[in-house]
Amino acid sequence: MKKIPFVTKEQIEKIVKDYPTPFHIYDEKGIRENARRVKQAFSWNKGFREYFAVKATPNPYILKVLQEEGCGVDCSSLTELMISEKCGFHGSDIMFSSNVTPAEEYKKAKELGAYINLDDITHIEFLEEAAGIPETICCRFNPGGVFKMGTDIMDNPGDAKYGMTKDQLIEAFKRLKELGAKRFGIHSFLASNTVTNEYYPTLAGILFELAVEVKEKTGVELAFINLSGGIGIPYSPEQEPNDIAVIGEGVRKQFEKYMVPAGLSDVAIFTELGRFMAGPYGGLVTKAIHEKHIYKEYIGVDACAVNLMRPAMYGAYHHITVLGKENEPCDHVYDVTGSLCENNDKFAINRKLPKIDMGDYLFIHDTGAHGFSMGYNYNGKLRSAELLLKEDGSVKLIRRAETPKDYFATFDFSDEFRF
Ligand SMILES: *Cc1c(COP(=O)(O)O)cnc(C)c1O
Repeated sequence: MKKIPFVTKEQIEKIVKDYPTPFHIYDEKGIRENARRVKQAFSWNKGFREYFAVKATPNPYILKVLQEEGCGVDCSSLTELMISEKCGFHGSDIMFSSNVTPAEEYKKAKELGAYINLDDITHIEFLEEAAGIPETICCRFNPGGVFKMGTDIMDNPGDAKYGMTKDQLIEAFKRLKELGAKRFGIHSFLASNTVTNEYYPTLAGILFELAVEVKEKTGVELAFINLSGGIGIPYSPEQEPNDIAVIGEGVRKQFEKYMVPAGLSDVAIFTELGRFMAGPYGGLVTKAIHEKHIYKEYIGVDACAVNLMRPAMYGAYHHITVLGKENEPCDHVYDVTGSLCENNDKFAINRKLPKIDMGDYLFIHDTGAHGFSMGYNYNGKLRSAELLLKEDGSVKLIRRAETPKDYFATFDFSDEFRF
């Protein structure tokens, strides 16, 4: 499917007068409409709720938009809990799905009344000591082995650090019940960025079957099944996008197969989507500032891997549109690079694009999740601004760009080095 940016060259030319490139820009309308489709797809389940994975886009303005659409938040660190608290999320609005969790983070989660999701059986004693066992508690399941759908190997849970074995999970529920827990959840995350409508239904089948067994063996009251994240987006134009309505329907079929006959039809379905909620509704806008002709053709831009790490880290594909040249032939082949002293700082390698002139604006697609948030400061490079394109077409600054003062802020204790 042809990928079309949600902003035009004309819009960007206006925006850069106030906010110079590079910046991430998010599409409020796109985020809202997608959130409504997710809600609709699972409306057959009374207690359904999406808990947006804060790590994907930890910006309070984005969290507020999703809050208005009825979403909760999924946190995994102290600062994610703090940002959520500031936005007015509390109690059952928050899932805390962490791992290797410090005691102070459990304390904060408990204080906020969040649903705590235990990554390991040994965390029961740890949580009890740190904060006490809450009435509702969740445990994360890892089935081990390889996770297959049909003959396709999707991922390798046996190699993943997360979750507990089935025996441990059953043991954990019994122990937690003894310690006063009254209602229980089951969580699992088996594959990331799945571009298939079958992932959630397959995972749901595994977890629903497990839920029935857990209920028989422990007699606990099950409150929710958390399907976590993992629904992907088509980064490449060749990929077929997921259809959330088909996914919701697929999960419903499994619910009716396993849960309803076992008397578990009141159990809520939770999701913790990050990428699917925000990924396509963000773009990194950057300007071509250098061209270089050596053994290959290079275009140097004013953003670099600190602004978007996925290509450097995973070799991930991010589609690029040269704004204003949407309909020109892609008859040039470029490496599009940033300025880090690292040869993996390339947004695209051997990419067919229209002829790029200095000063052209490039729109790097699908940076709305795991984009800005994975940023770092290598080479002393600074994080960019984040902008929100509102439904009325206006643009709001939702995070300013870093300045050198921010970069040097952690020397503020020093009398010798002040910047
Ligand atoms: C990262 C993460 C998510 C979100 O994953 P996406 O791939 O963005 O949907 C959800 N839950 C947990 C526990 C995570 O670690």
